[in-house]
This record gives sequence, C-alpha cells and structure tokens, in this order.
Amino acid sequence: MSLQLLKEREVPEQIVDERSEDEDEALQGIRCPRCSWRPSASSRWTCLWLDTPEPYFDACGTVWNTFTTRGRCPGCSHQWVYTSCLRCDQWSLHNDWYERTPRPQ
Ligand SMILES: [Zn+2]
Ligand SMILES: [Zn+2]
Repeated sequence: MSLQLLKEREVPEQIVDERSEDEDEALQGIRCPRCSWRPSASSRWTCLWLDTPEPYFDACGTVWNTFTTRGRCPGCSHQWVYTSCLRCDQWSLHNDWYERTPRPQ
C-alpha cells in the first residue's frame, strides 16, 4: 500500500458576509443644527460630564445611541438637554437635532 496521499485540490470555503448595512444608514430626520451631519444607527454617545453645557450630574459612562432614547441615558436615566456632534464637536439642544418637516398643505 502506497503511503502517498492523493493531494486533493483544496477549495476554500467562501465566507459570505451577509450582515446588512442597514444599521449604518443615516437616521431619518436628524441632523446636527450646526454642520448638518447626520448620525447613523451605529453612532454612539457617552454619558460623560465633561465640557458639557449641562448642569453637573453624576455621569455613569454608558455608551449608547442617544437618538434611540431622545437623549435619555439608559444607564442613569439622566435626560440630556444638549447633544454634542460627533463631527463638529459642538453642543446643541437635543430637540434642535430633529428636523422640522413642513406640514403638507
Ligand atoms: Zn455638527
Ligand atoms: Zn448616564
């Protein structure tokens, strides 16, 4: 019996990444009032009291997408009045981030 092994041609398995890109789509109707940057579903803010216009509170460090909770921290329930822009670093009132769509007449 021969010890020679038949060398089979290896066919690398194709790994298809099926993850959808939907998560990264810009959030509808939300943009920075100062630079018009649109956050996406994967954008993250941190509950951190540092260089913020907010009155002092005991920030908890939670990282989340602030537009999924309208500015309320899921960690300590602090209602953020201001939201910083991840692009221009400026603070704006959270409510100012929501575009006012003109009512259809
Ligand atoms: Zn901005
Ligand atoms: Zn918090």
